Amino acid sequence: MPTVAIVGRPNVGKSTLFNRLVGKKLALVDDRPGVTRDRREGDVAFGGLQFRVIDTAGLEEADEKTLTGRMRMQTEAAILAADVVLFVIDARAGVLPADQPFAELVRRAGCPVILIANKAEGGAGLAGAYEAFTLGLGDPIPFSAEHGEGLGELHEALKGALPQRDDDEDADDDAPGGRALKVAIVGRPNAGKSTLINRMLGEERLLVGPEAGITRDSISLDWEWRGRRIKLHDTAGMRRRARIDDKLEKLAVSDGLRAVRFAEVVVVLLDATIPFEKQDLTIVDLVESEGRALVIGLNKWDLVADQPGLLKQLREDCTRLLPQVRGVAVVPLSGLAGDGVDKLMQAVVQAAEVWDRRISTSRINDWLNEATSRNPPPAVSGRRIKIRYATQVKSRPPHFALFGNQLNALPKSYTRYLVNGLREAFDLPGTPIRLSLRTSQ
Ligand code: GDP
Repeated sequence: MPTVAIVGRPNVGKSTLFNRLVGKKLALVDDRPGVTRDRREGDVAFGGLQFRVIDTAGLEEADEKTLTGRMRMQTEAAILAADVVLFVIDARAGVLPADQPFAELVRRAGCPVILIANKAEGGAGLAGAYEAFTLGLGDPIPFSAEHGEGLGELHEALKGALPQRDDDEDADDDAPGGRALKVAIVGRPNAGKSTLINRMLGEERLLVGPEAGITRDSISLDWEWRGRRIKLHDTAGMRRRARIDDKLEKLAVSDGLRAVRFAEVVVVLLDATIPFEKQDLTIVDLVESEGRALVIGLNKWDLVADQPGLLKQLREDCTRLLPQVRGVAVVPLSGLAGDGVDKLMQAVVQAAEVWDRRISTSRINDWLNEATSRNPPPAVSGRRIKIRYATQVKSRPPHFALFGNQLNALPKSYTRYLVNGLREAFDLPGTPIRLSLRTSQ
């Protein structure tokens, strides 16, 4: 679901707008000061549009005058998470110096911004709305969150700015069994992808053959596993680029890439008798850089003589060769015999759950305090790097933001320590983890 952030200086009416959009007063779950009150989120259904809205209003009492500390961090984190930003000013007050630092952050957002001149009920504050043009953020919408004026215009603007969902997905949401989980099975030619997919679907729908590359089309197939809807993407396999010499082969490679982009969970299928060739590692890198959930399938397990020995060795290889997806599930199976397919699907569903997980800001900061006191960041030219605050800005895959001083000087080894720590503390095995550093000095 796309995310919309409400940004602006204190007292312009952000909370009123939030409540107006969400349609009810949200109870605050955790009211420890400054922990979760600084970020409220709610799901919005607004005339056919669906999105998640983030309000940054909670810290207003703490920071009345200046845009410092947590207010700034919250705003930055919200903007980072957003697909669209609603920038709110008070039309009656006009554009004040206190609006400028927020406008500055919003200008750098890199996503569409909708400018809202609030408190303009009954035509009030028109002068202020005109003044808002000077912010260089486009035409302001005269609005009243309190009285519900300007909602039509806001709806139009949001409709134009929100990322489009394809109709396919819309239809998916309402179907029995929930939205289909998109899964791609990728791997080298002859790893056994088609055989596995046929096994899953229980019918000979794809061509299978001993020569490499006999299946060349890419198809999306609907399937159900234990009452869960799955959309399977078949792929003809990514061939080593060096071997590409005709158009069909080129098509197959870009198709593998398309499969990874299509999927929420990617199963990289290895031939257990010739595991971890260079091309397999390249595929895992691709899954990581595209930010997809990952499961590794060890196919043709029926051909392996020393099964416990090989499994132990391959798990070690994974830890060594794939540190970027530490803890990834490795599932032995035989597509031909049908063994291990259920285990594979359990791992797929589990990987999707981890990939989708959201962790509360308070838990992340409890962890951060602990992790940074156990192993403090190093000093740079006599000054300690200080990490003051962390929050999860996105999921699918988990994406965290750290705020503090001189974070651009953090050594790689330290960010690795933090990523591994997050993985451990919040049980995020095998998923890519993103970390953004935001330095205030
Ligand atoms: P693809 O190119 O990845 O789609 O691979 P195919 O599904 O076409 O399989 C290539 C070859 O490997 C075929 O001859 C399959 O019968 C064989 N194969 C696939 N899975 C298994 C398995 O689990 N065990 C064994 N022994 N052979 C398999």
